[in-house]
Amino acid sequence: MSKQTHSFQAEVQQILHLVTHSLYSNKEIFLRELVSNASDACDKLRFEALDNAALYEDQPNLELRVLFDAEAKTITIRDNGIGMSAEEAVAHLGTIAKSGTREFMARLEGDQKKDANLIGQFGVGFYSGFIVADRMTVETRRAGAPADQGVRWSSTGSGDFEVETIDKPGRGTDVILHLREGEEEFLSAWKLKSIIGKYSDHISLPILMRKETWDEEKKAQVPTDEWETVNKAAALWTRSKSDITDAEYQDFYKQISYDQQAPLAYTHNRVEGRTEYTQLLYVPAKAPFDLWNRDKRGGVKLYVKRVFIMDDAEALMPVYLRFVKGVIDSADLPLNVSRELLQESRDVKAIREGSTKRVLSMLEDVANSDEPSQKDKYAAFWKEFGQVLKEGIGEDFANRERLAKLFRFASTHADEGVSLADYVSRMKEGQDAVYYITADSLAAAKGSPQLEIFRKKGIEVLLLVDRVDEWMLSHLYEFEGHALTSVAKGAVDLGKLQDEDEKKAAEQAAEASKPLVDKLKASLGERVKDVRVTTRLVDSPACVVVDEGDVSAHLARMLKAAGQ
Ligand code: ADP
Ligand code: MG
Repeated sequence: MSKQTHSFQAEVQQILHLVTHSLYSNKEIFLRELVSNASDACDKLRFEALDNAALYEDQPNLELRVLFDAEAKTITIRDNGIGMSAEEAVAHLGTIAKSGTREFMARLEGDQKKDANLIGQFGVGFYSGFIVADRMTVETRRAGAPADQGVRWSSTGSGDFEVETIDKPGRGTDVILHLREGEEEFLSAWKLKSIIGKYSDHISLPILMRKETWDEEKKAQVPTDEWETVNKAAALWTRSKSDITDAEYQDFYKQISYDQQAPLAYTHNRVEGRTEYTQLLYVPAKAPFDLWNRDKRGGVKLYVKRVFIMDDAEALMPVYLRFVKGVIDSADLPLNVSRELLQESRDVKAIREGSTKRVLSMLEDVANSDEPSQKDKYAAFWKEFGQVLKEGIGEDFANRERLAKLFRFASTHADEGVSLADYVSRMKEGQDAVYYITADSLAAAKGSPQLEIFRKKGIEVLLLVDRVDEWMLSHLYEFEGHALTSVAKGAVDLGKLQDEDEKKAAEQAAEASKPLVDKLKASLGERVKDVRVTTRLVDSPACVVVDEGDVSAHLARMLKAAGQ
């Protein structure tokens, strides 16, 4: 194929512009992104080679190399992974297949601080090379293709790129950065090593660099033909817990999550028994920008005996824990396991149940800690992920009790942070039910006349104002034997909470008001189901309630707003 010129997809041009301009203050991340792509390429080769060992050609050892040429002002990131065909190079390095581009760009234009992480989260890492390079050349050959089927892709990162056929004896990809004027600081082994140490130490393949020697004539370090491994090259989760420092766990989290904040909690275990696996799971402190994006990439990577199998293995985590990040390495699954197979596997089911329990106990540890800092952490976590966790009530029947204990609400007692256990501990003598009211906002809930009698008697009422609450209540109807009861439904029988005098007074009032009630019934007619005298009001003359078992007024409003 002779040289062809292609235009970048419009989104790529926008991304390129944004990435090179707004990520400049964090420019060293280009190396993290290109090393991560090289490592992914090796993982892909290993995976495809499970069915076709010939793809290894004569090079069974997968590795990455980072080279630089001080005179030519280039840095090369080389891998002997899967490589790309010409079609793949055009598609993968010229278009963006993922959704959420607009949101990504809006974020990139806005909040400067998160920028560097967003690029990895969104997966446009390749283009970060243009932060430091005014030209990028990619020389690649797909594993299994003949040597004369190599491809050279090159671009100055503005508007278009060129593709041509080349000879490339070695399998895999060289990404060559032609550094911009002023970026010479990266032409140093020390500098490159320190960036690799900072971002890429966890890469489980060896990253090789040339050893250097002092040249008297040039008065400088010069590269030799000897190579050395500059990273640890052992996947963190395969190491023994006692050898791993907290800082290493934190670094690994940052590398896999692109989240610069420390995680809320993590857990690392080797699980033995019928199903054997290692889990290293993290709960983030902050939600990613795409938590609500349906086709967002999941957080748990599946390995089988250290071989990377897939990202985003949904079968390993329930949907309501989709914010959990980490790695699960199974000793039992077949290496050629597919997504379909995962759904059916008994081992996967056991892993999923075990991992779910682990995550819940991590959350419980933070939530139940007596340390104020942990309590604050949990409150922050709840703000970020509470709505997602509530989904679990409908999704995960087995863990319903544990989930309910992790929930936090507003109530007439406190504006936030009220657990059901707190509520129960404050229940009045003779109170059986957990009372709640649903509304669009805290202010609306607090202003409801339905609360009057509860206020007067000092009975706490939960104020449920999240959109998911109505739905949650259809799955959560009791807590430790106490029925969750709406104050806005039915006759609200305060039962034992009413004293004898009050009961008598109520009966008398009902008797005395009978003529008025009859009149109201007659004039309201079909528009109401019933009119009755109530003890629930203290200051207001009347209020509307729905019947037990009917759709609540709040839900009715939501359904109406949704056009149903
Ligand atoms: P992501 O890695 O999140 O997919 P990138 O922008 O980093 O996004 O890379 C885009 C795509 O380009 C990759 O998905 C991959 O298909 C291809 N690619 C990039 N680098 C390499 C490489 N070294 N070897 C093979 N394919 C690569
Ligand atoms: Mg990438």
